[in-house]
This record gives sequence, structure tokens and C-alpha cells, in this order.
Amino acid sequence: MAQATTLGELRASSYPDRTVKQELRANLLDRLELGRELFPGILGFDDTVLPGLERGILAGHDLILLGERGQAKTRLVRTIVNLLDDSVPAITGCEVNDHPFRPICARCRDLVAAEGDATPITWLAPDERYSEKLATPDTSVADLIGDVDPIRVAEGRYLADELTIHYGMIPRTHRGIVAINELPDLPERIQVSLFNILEERDVQIRGYRIRLPLDILLVVTANPDDYTHRGRIVSPLKDRFGTQVRTHYPDTPSDEILIMDQETRPLTGGIPVRIPVFMIQAAAVRRAARTHEPEAVPRPIDLSAVLLSSEGRVEFDTVEEGREHDILARALRQAELNVFRRRLSGHDFSGLLGRFDDPSFAVDTSELTPASDLLGGLGDLPGLAKLLERLGVQEESPGVAASALEFALEGLHLSRRLNKDEDGGAARYAGAEDSTAG
Ligand SMILES: [Zn+2]
Repeated sequence: MAQATTLGELRASSYPDRTVKQELRANLLDRLELGRELFPGILGFDDTVLPGLERGILAGHDLILLGERGQAKTRLVRTIVNLLDDSVPAITGCEVNDHPFRPICARCRDLVAAEGDATPITWLAPDERYSEKLATPDTSVADLIGDVDPIRVAEGRYLADELTIHYGMIPRTHRGIVAINELPDLPERIQVSLFNILEERDVQIRGYRIRLPLDILLVVTANPDDYTHRGRIVSPLKDRFGTQVRTHYPDTPSDEILIMDQETRPLTGGIPVRIPVFMIQAAAVRRAARTHEPEAVPRPIDLSAVLLSSEGRVEFDTVEEGREHDILARALRQAELNVFRRRLSGHDFSGLLGRFDDPSFAVDTSELTPASDLLGGLGDLPGLAKLLERLGVQEESPGVAASALEFALEGLHLSRRLNKDEDGGAARYAGAEDSTAG
């Protein structure tokens, strides 16, 4: 059936008149019954976060997501958009997505009064019904709700007339989902305006009282510490969030790796990147470009680049000042050792370690050592196929084989079975003086 293009056609089509929360609830119920994926791309929250979120939506609550930085809160909020109808009707040309059956702006009320069933209708897609804002101390009422338009005032209109309003983000998302990230950073005065518009459905702008009966789902995020800190969220607004959802960091390394893959943007520039599940990428692209390798495969030697890029993103206590690099380096070595033990415990390294029985033998690697040099240095190595199998490598690729070998060398070093000398971006692995340790 063709979509209605006028108010009259819409009435004749018995289009259901429902609020955005009723719409989300109905669509969520349908999908739960059909067993369809509800929050695509959200990993590791199935049993902990999503049930609470679903209950909140079914209850018709505004929602608050509490969690630390990097817990996919914003990503989660955006997936709620998938629960909106594929399209909903609105009065053509309306700044606030007016519902054809119950317009809230003066322009559309006048239009419907004049045109009646001939009032033109357009249809809105889900992404036109979503907006998000990061709260900051300088966020204004004008940003969120609106302002009096001085030009229109100068034209001599009545100041209390809605036509003098320049609408902000929330009215422009009327009939949709409004997300405000880090709500406690919003000044108290703005929080009060937000509460008024949601609860009382009117708001004072520059001393003028404006009535705006908005229909929205409000989803906000906050850091749990800020949220519990007294006074950071004004209590009437706090009471509006019928459902609190606590997020968390990934529970399992495999979820964490999937999330990292999700967050990774390709950096390649034409060189195909192959990512073994135990590594990451930018330094590998640099090596491939510099040494003309056919593909960029990350190796353990590249992890020093991760350290540098992590330092600005990890929060340290003041007592740790000056030791940031050491702390991260230690965490990285521990992580490598954990992965080595998990993936390669019990593996027979006698073929590889046997090479190091010769005290003059050593394997050199660096950020710019190509895979062929690394593999060439070890020659035909018994047990290499088995090692690759243990690491889940299925393809024949010199780059991946070199990465696996370097990972084994590093793991053997961290478990004290090989020596390692480091110099800048280079490393030399040699036989341990006491190879029975570890
Ligand atoms: Zn309107």
C-alpha cells in the first residue's frame, strides 16, 4: 500500500496513533517474540546489560546508562534507533516533526486548520528521529530547547507567540530519541529546564513561557561516580529515569578482542592487512610500506607502538606520576604472557629452543625487519606447522608465520626460557643461561 501523502489519506489508512515509547515497546515485543537480534553490534552485554535495557523500554521509562569511559554506552544508545518504525508520518515542512493528528507548533496548527485533509504529509526515517549531544558546562538552553529569535521579534510579532522561537535539539527531535551523554556535566540551570520541558511540558525562555508538549524518549549516560556525587544531577530530573542500566568492561578476552576489532579503523592505504587475533596493526603497515612486504601483519615488536598510543588514554593515580610508561609496559608484558600461556601451554618448543643450544645463535628482529628475514634467520623449523595450528592460523602466509614465531620467542623470553636484549625498536633473542628455569 502506498504511503499517505495527505492528512486525509493518513486518516483513511487507519494509521495507529501512538507515542514514541509505545512504538518502541510494540516493536521490541514483536522482535522478542520473533527471536530477532535487537541490538546489533553490541557485544558481551547479552546477560548483564541488555535485559535491564529491554525492561526499561517495555516499561516506557526514560533511561540512564551508568558506566565508565569506553564501555560502549553511546554505541548502545544508538542501537535503540533500530527499534523505531521504518517510517512515520509528519506534517511536511514542520521544524519539530509534527504528528499530523496532533500538531504542537503554531505553524502546523494553522496549516491543518486552513488545509484540513489536504495538509501534506512526509515520512521520516529512524535516523531522522535521533539526536545526541555531549553535555558540557557551556551547553545552553538555546542549544537544547530553543531561543527567542531576535529577527522575528524585530518584525513585530507577539513575543509570546511560538513563531518567535528558534527550536533547539530536543524539539527538533520531537517524536524521536534524544541522547545526552555525560548528563552530570550539564549545568544545574539547564538540567532544571530539561526537567520542565519533559515533565511540565512548558519552559521559560528569556522570561517567556512556552508550551511544548513533546513526545520523546530521553536516554542519558553518566559516569557512576558523577551520578552518585550529591548535586551533580538535580533530584527531580534524577527521579525521571525509571530505569538505570549499569554497563561494564568486557567480561572475556574474546569479547574484548571483538570490541577492539569493531573500534579499529583501517589504516592500510592499499596494503592488505591480515590481523592474527593476538595482535594489532599500525606499526605493521609502516613496516610493510618501508620494506615492500606484500601484506602488513602485526607482530609483538609492534606492541611498543601500543604503549605510546595508550599513555594519553589511561588514567593514573597521582602517586604513579612519572611511572606511567613502566606501569603500562609491565601490564603489556603480563598480557602477552597470559595469552602465551593460554594459547600455547604444553606446546613442544624443543625444535625452536634446540636452535638456541648453540651459544652463537641469535634471532634479530625490529620494527622494520621483514617477515622473510625473520623466518630466514630460523631456517626450516620443525614444529612450525604445529605452532601455527595452535594459534589458529589456517592460511599460508609468511607474515603470519613470522608473527607467530616472534610471539613464541617473546613468550619463551617472558617465561624465562630465552634471553632478550632490547635496543630501541630492535630486539635480539638468544639462549638463556639457565634454560631449565620457568
Ligand atoms: Zn509543526
